[in-house]
Amino acid sequence: MKVLALKVDVDTLRGHREGVLNLLNLFDRLSVKASFFFSMGPDNSGKAIVRIFRKGFISKMLRTKAPSTYGLKTLFYGTLIKAPMIAQSFPGLLKETVVRGHDFGIHAWDHVKWQDGLNKMPVTTIEAELKRAFDLFYQYTGRRPKAFAAPGWQINIDAMMVLDSLGLDYTSNTRGLFPYIPRFGRKLFSTVEIPTTMPTMDEIMGTNGLRGSAMAQHLLGCLKEGLNVFTLHAEMEGLSQIHVFEEFLRGALDQGVRCVPLSFVSKMTRDELPRCQVADGTVEGRAGTLAVQKTD
Ligand SMILES: [Zn+2]
Repeated sequence: MKVLALKVDVDTLRGHREGVLNLLNLFDRLSVKASFFFSMGPDNSGKAIVRIFRKGFISKMLRTKAPSTYGLKTLFYGTLIKAPMIAQSFPGLLKETVVRGHDFGIHAWDHVKWQDGLNKMPVTTIEAELKRAFDLFYQYTGRRPKAFAAPGWQINIDAMMVLDSLGLDYTSNTRGLFPYIPRFGRKLFSTVEIPTTMPTMDEIMGTNGLRGSAMAQHLLGCLKEGLNVFTLHAEMEGLSQIHVFEEFLRGALDQGVRCVPLSFVSKMTRDELPRCQVADGTVEGRAGTLAVQKTD
């Protein structure tokens, strides 16, 4: 029996505004429920882009008079353009996700700040950012999220201390093989961790350049017996790659794969879960280090 748990990360205003609704409609058509993790605060995508590209990127972009599409605008959020507030701009989509019966959690207050600088953040800042995100979600929906998924799979012991105190049903902060109870050094936490087990679309593209149907078929080939956790992005699988994602999902359903939200997994008996160390690691096709489950 193959089970596919769907984890949707919402990183940007564009992903939130356009991608979330596309995915909600796709999931409705296929009678599938998923888990959505929302970035609630400012969209500082521009800061991440500036870091990625070499110096002179902005002047080059301006010189080429690239059309000011919304996609281009996103490149400047938090740099030339004041970072827009994501959830506040379209709060109705949070409610829509809840009403349509999907599982929901927090991805970040400020995705870029967490992904690029978690290890420099004092614990009081981590606490404050998480509180803002959880409180705002509650304010807009009347529901308190019971899950969290770390931006860019960046997590450390300070952040885990704060998350553990929130009494969540589960977190999804790491890459790994199966659900577990996380340990950082000697410190054992109590929140169930459900790691992403499959490669993401951008990692597959980065590794072997697959596109379109070839990508969908590759993803189907990645499905193993038991639990598979797939992370998708509202700004990617919810927009330009939605047909590829739909082909993958339909293919999985045709094969009898059971598609579920991550909360389905967290309801399994936690007492039987193994304890595993979380460490810095790498995954193929992705730059930098991220948190991985140690299984040896
Ligand atoms: Zn993200």
